Amino acid sequence: MRWDNLAEDPGTGGDSALFGTSAVTTRTFDTPEFRGITFHEVRARSILNRVPGASRMPFEWTVNPYRGCTHACVYCFARRTHSYLDLDTGLGFDSQIVVKVNAPELLRRQLASRRWQGAHVAMGTNVDCYQRAEGRYRLMPGILQALRDHANPFSVLTKGTLILRDLDLLRQAADVTEVGISVSVGFTDPELWRTVEPGTPSPERRLGVVRALTGAGIGCGVLMAPVIPFLGDRPEQLRATVRAIAAAGATSVTPLVLHLRPGAREWFMSWLRAHHPHLVERYERMYAEGAYAPKWYQRRVTRQVHELAAEYGIGPASPRSRRALPEPAAQEAPVTLEPTQLTLL
Ligand code: SF4
Repeated sequence: MRWDNLAEDPGTGGDSALFGTSAVTTRTFDTPEFRGITFHEVRARSILNRVPGASRMPFEWTVNPYRGCTHACVYCFARRTHSYLDLDTGLGFDSQIVVKVNAPELLRRQLASRRWQGAHVAMGTNVDCYQRAEGRYRLMPGILQALRDHANPFSVLTKGTLILRDLDLLRQAADVTEVGISVSVGFTDPELWRTVEPGTPSPERRLGVVRALTGAGIGCGVLMAPVIPFLGDRPEQLRATVRAIAAAGATSVTPLVLHLRPGAREWFMSWLRAHHPHLVERYERMYAEGAYAPKWYQRRVTRQVHELAAEYGIGPASPRSRRALPEPAAQEAPVTLEPTQLTLL
């Protein structure tokens, strides 16, 4: 494995040499929850990563305590980042998890630096910080405490119900700084969920998170992503999803159509071949120009979702909530999708 001279993500311009070979401890746990998963514990040298081209994004800095994600979404474009470690971007991404065990102490130190200006920090933008590993490693409480103690604004995007464990900390942080939480729910179809996001909590449970956060006085938006062409984009599917998002009390809904960047594309297409072979040609046509669906299609989905959101009483994301959302809100227009360093959580 290529552990030395590791960049957080060449695409994000992250610090190089985050940790060295000697710092890696590999573990497995023989519990049903973690069977088949290997954890690579590292002591990172840096935890605040600067996002290049941040002018197009609502944030400039990210914190990612993990790499790889057991949520195992077949479309996840963070898969590519596993190749930087010479790890497999398919099943390897789902089961070889890098854990930056010193993330909380490192963050606290970096936030205390005189050079740090207190910029907004986005989490969950590369891989899910509330994936199953977090149940064991418990890195997020220390990270949230550090951000709270420095009154540093932050946002979290997640599919993990584990975030509710940290509700008190989120509330404490929200008392002293700006906190934005977004949950990702692209569809509510249970069959689609089981095959395309096999390691995630169900959409219903994720909407339960939205409900609980809203009930606790912490507004929560929904990133409706990804809307999957030909599988999750029928009008009745969009309606059911937006209706459920509204019923959960989401403060905003932001749709985003599936995109297939290198790394994710190969894995998604092999899944499509196995599960929906009749759609392969249509996908090849739809994504013939690159990673993004045609703009007319993106516009159509966005318009449909916004109309439904208005019907069910969820306004389009306000400037304030867009700032809290660590994903496509960075776009100048909702359907002008530029490459980002963000996954579709
Ligand atoms: S899309 Fe998000 S939740 Fe799914 S595997 Fe990727 S990082 Fe994990």
